[in-house]
Amino acid sequence: MNKYSLPYNSMDAMWELIERLFPINRTLVNDGYLESLEIIREKIDLNILKYDSGMEVWDWIIPNAWNVREAYIKDSSGNILVDFDNNNLHLAAYSIRFSGKLTKSELLKHIWTLPGQPDAIPYRTLYYKTDDWKFCIAHNDLRLFNDSEAYDVCIDIDSKPGKLCIGEYYLPGKTEKEILITSYLCHPSLANDNLSGVAVAVEIMKNLAAIDNRRYSYRLLVVPESIGAITYLATHEDQLHKIVGGYVLTCCGDDGIVTYKKTYSGNSIIDKAAVHVLKNKYQDSSFNEYDFWPNGSDEQKYNAPGVRLDVGSFMRTPYSEFAEYHTSKDNLSFISKEKLFDTLDSILRTLYVIDNDEILNNNYKGEPFLSKHGIYQSTDLKKPDKQSICYIQRVLMMELDGLNSLLDIADKWNYSFDDVYDVSREFLKSGLVRIVESK
Ligand code: ZN
Repeated sequence: MNKYSLPYNSMDAMWELIERLFPINRTLVNDGYLESLEIIREKIDLNILKYDSGMEVWDWIIPNAWNVREAYIKDSSGNILVDFDNNNLHLAAYSIRFSGKLTKSELLKHIWTLPGQPDAIPYRTLYYKTDDWKFCIAHNDLRLFNDSEAYDVCIDIDSKPGKLCIGEYYLPGKTEKEILITSYLCHPSLANDNLSGVAVAVEIMKNLAAIDNRRYSYRLLVVPESIGAITYLATHEDQLHKIVGGYVLTCCGDDGIVTYKKTYSGNSIIDKAAVHVLKNKYQDSSFNEYDFWPNGSDEQKYNAPGVRLDVGSFMRTPYSEFAEYHTSKDNLSFISKEKLFDTLDSILRTLYVIDNDEILNNNYKGEPFLSKHGIYQSTDLKKPDKQSICYIQRVLMMELDGLNSLLDIADKWNYSFDDVYDVSREFLKSGLVRIVESK
């Protein structure tokens, strides 16, 4: 893969996509989800895969479509106190249809608030429940309700069989072995979790499409979280052997430092490349490197028994660690263009390393006479500068024995991958080494 140069307008492209997608009411299966994929399709030529509600996918069943016509709570004077039209977080996803008059105490059984964040609306779901409905409101707004009144509740929803949709974009490379880039799109009106991940993922693919000589093929999957990943895996079992590994992207735009969550195996090229890049990019170690943990996003599904794909996750502040998570405070003001861009840059650098990493084997015995092969050698090695090209040449002369990849060598000797890769081209060009493995 040729080295990328990150276009500055990626910043604006990601932001514009997030702004457009933000207000749409999305859930696992609904019109808003498909509408959002259609918007992404304006940016990148997505193929939209569709699967029927009721279909069994391994241990799961694809749910019905859930669309909202209107949902509100009115007081006895007809004033609307809570309105889905004002904020689509107000109705828990997959609430059942309901219409009736309730006292305050009856109503409170169907209201979720966050007492610890009294001005935030919580985001909640009732996935796979068939007998409940809930409104989500700011705790401070409980003041609007009093004991002596009865309230009109209207939840006019449509729940019927529909199609679970997966947005897929495939970029072929020299080999069919592929790297997966994925994020989820099922949350309504939340910015960091999860639109930031989608915007960065789309921009990664746009950038990869513009780079020549990709060794690997790359596949983008934009899914409804959990059920979408399982649906894809269950319906592509015969294709999964092609997947080298990949990354789930989530929470990519907040102010925190970059976090890399390792794969279940913890020692794959997917992990090594990510950690190498972050160590070299943030010299002051201002990034997090976490071992795999079993609750999270779709990395659970990809790494689970029976699948065991090496899929790690890039994020900034992990989902469980910011107060705005799953609340109305996770909005456009919680993320920034600059942090989205920084996350994008980190992931593209990582993919560059993966795409170019290879094992080289020696065609020579003993120490070769480097200058005879056009590889420059300084004669003054009394005080070797370990960062000099001359020193890296000597390291490579010792290391290129067909056992360790360029990334392994860079990690062992504390070089950046780029430094080792560039010098290794001289060895390859001279015929002193040959490529023995394309991972
Ligand atoms: Zn979430």
